[in-house]
Amino acid sequence: MPVASTEHTGTNDNYFFHTLFLLAEFALKGSARHPLYRSYSAGVAVLRDSYPLGSFIVRSLREMGYWQICQSGDVSLTSSSTHAVKPLPQSSPSCDILPAMTRSLVRILFVALLAFCPIANAQNTTQYLRCGALFDSVSGTLRQHVVIEISGNKIINVHPEDQAPTGDRVTDLSSETCLPGLIDTHTHVLLQGDATASSYADQLLKQSLAYRAIVGAATAGKALGYGFTTIRDLETEGALYADVDIKHLIEQGVIPGPRMQVATRALDVTGAYPLLGYAYGVDVPHGVQLCDGPDECRKAVREQISYGADWIKVYVDRGYFLRPDGVLDDIPTFTLDELTAIVDEAHRQNHPVAAHAMGLHGVHNAITAGVDTLEHGDYIAPEDLKTMAAKDMWYVPTTYALEAVAEGRASDGNPVYQQMIKTHADTFRRAMAAHIKIAFGTDAGAFPWTTNPAKEFSTLVRDGMSPSVAIQSATMQAAKLMHMDDKLGIIEPGKLADIVAVPGNPLDQISVMEKVDFVMKDGMIYRNTQAKQ
Ligand SMILES: [Zn+2]
Repeated sequence: MPVASTEHTGTNDNYFFHTLFLLAEFALKGSARHPLYRSYSAGVAVLRDSYPLGSFIVRSLREMGYWQICQSGDVSLTSSSTHAVKPLPQSSPSCDILPAMTRSLVRILFVALLAFCPIANAQNTTQYLRCGALFDSVSGTLRQHVVIEISGNKIINVHPEDQAPTGDRVTDLSSETCLPGLIDTHTHVLLQGDATASSYADQLLKQSLAYRAIVGAATAGKALGYGFTTIRDLETEGALYADVDIKHLIEQGVIPGPRMQVATRALDVTGAYPLLGYAYGVDVPHGVQLCDGPDECRKAVREQISYGADWIKVYVDRGYFLRPDGVLDDIPTFTLDELTAIVDEAHRQNHPVAAHAMGLHGVHNAITAGVDTLEHGDYIAPEDLKTMAAKDMWYVPTTYALEAVAEGRASDGNPVYQQMIKTHADTFRRAMAAHIKIAFGTDAGAFPWTTNPAKEFSTLVRDGMSPSVAIQSATMQAAKLMHMDDKLGIIEPGKLADIVAVPGNPLDQISVMEKVDFVMKDGMIYRNTQAKQ
C-alpha cells in the first residue's frame, strides 16, 4: 500500500533535504560502513551503486510506495525553519534522476546544502508556538491560549498569551491543542503486519535484511509523522540488530524518526516462536534469539546488550486457550529458573526487561521473576495484579492491536484471538481498578503501519479509561516507563521541545489524536499541515 497518501504526508516535509543529506553522507563516507548501514544510510537513492542488491531493492521499494520523494511534491521544510528548500514540482523529473546522480554532483549538492541549510542554526534560535490550548499532562486538564517559548531543543517557558514576548519566529497553532510529543512504548518498526503466519514468513524468508532495514527506517519516519516523537521498539522479528542502527541514524540526523529505545532480537525457547512447522533439516530463521537453560539465556542477554539492546524482551507464554471460566490459559515458555536468570542478568547490567505475557501462567511467571513491564496482559489473575501493584510494575495493554489482528489470526486457525477480546477488556478494567501503572503501547507493526497507531487512544477510552488519563499514559506515564521523565512527557521549562498539535479538543473527542497535524521534535518542526500558518 502506498506510503505517501494524502492522509499522512507529513514525514515527506523534509524528505528532500534528508535524501540529499543521505546522498552526501554516502558520497563522503564511501565504504566506511558495513553494507547494511550503507544501505539504509543512503536511504534509497544510492543503493543502485553501493550494494549488489541495491537496484532490486530500490525497484521493490518504489513499487511498494516507499520511495517517498517520488510521490509527493510537498517536500519543503516548514516555514519556521531557516533552511527552507523549495518544493519539487509534482511532475518533477528529479524523482527519476536522483538515483542516477553521480557522486561528484552529490558533493556539490552537499556543499550547497551546508551553505543554505544549516540544521545547527535552527537549533540555536528562539521560536514560539502560539497554542489555542495546551494539555497539561500533570493535571490532565487543558490550559487555554498559551505561547510556548523554545530555544534550541529546549522549552524555555510557557506564557499566557497576553503576556508572551513578541518575536517573528512564531508558529500559529491558535486553532489547535498542543500536547507533549506522544510516546508509544510498544512498537515494531521492522515488522509490517503479522496477522497471518504467511505474512510473517514472507517477511523473514522473502525480504533481505537490507530491504527490511530500509522499510524499517522509512517506518520510523511514519511514526514521527503520526506524532510519536519517542518510541520503545520491542524487538526486530528476525531483523537482528537493525533497530540499533535505525536508532543511531535518527540520533545522527541522517534519517527523520522518533528517539528510540530498542530491544533488538528478544528471547524465546526452542520450539516456541515462528518460523515453525518446517521439515527437520530445513534451516529457517526465527523471529527471536532462541535460548534454553539459565546459562545460555544469561549469555544471550549479555550478547544483546553488547550489540546495543536498551531493553531485554522476553516471550514468556504461547499456546493460548480460553477456559470455560473465562481465564486465558497458556503454555509457559521459559521455566522460572530461566526467566529469573534473564531478569537477573539484565538488571545486573542496569537494563530493564519487557515481557510478552498474555495468559495465566506466563503472566504469573513474569511477575514472579520481576520483569519491569508486562506487555499485552490479556489475562492477569487477581492475585497477580496485587503483586504487580506491590512491585510497582508497568502494564502495557496494547488493546487495539489485539482487535486488529484477531480476524486474520482466526482465519489462520486461531479463533482464540477473537475469543480473548472480551477477556482483555475485563482485565484492563480490573487493572485500572487495582491502580496498576498503565503506559500507552500499540504493538504497531503487528498491524501494518499504514494504520495510525493512535487508534489505541479510542480503544482505551471505549474500554473505560478517561481521555485525559489515556493521553497521560502516552506522555507523562510513558516517559516514566522509559526513565526519560526528566526530559519528556510534560510541556514545561527545561524539558525537550517535543510538541505535537491536534485540531480540536481531545478531551471531548479522543479520535482527534489520530489527526496530529503538527510535529516538533527537539525543537525541529517535522510536520505542519494545519490550515493556519
Ligand atoms: Zn509486540
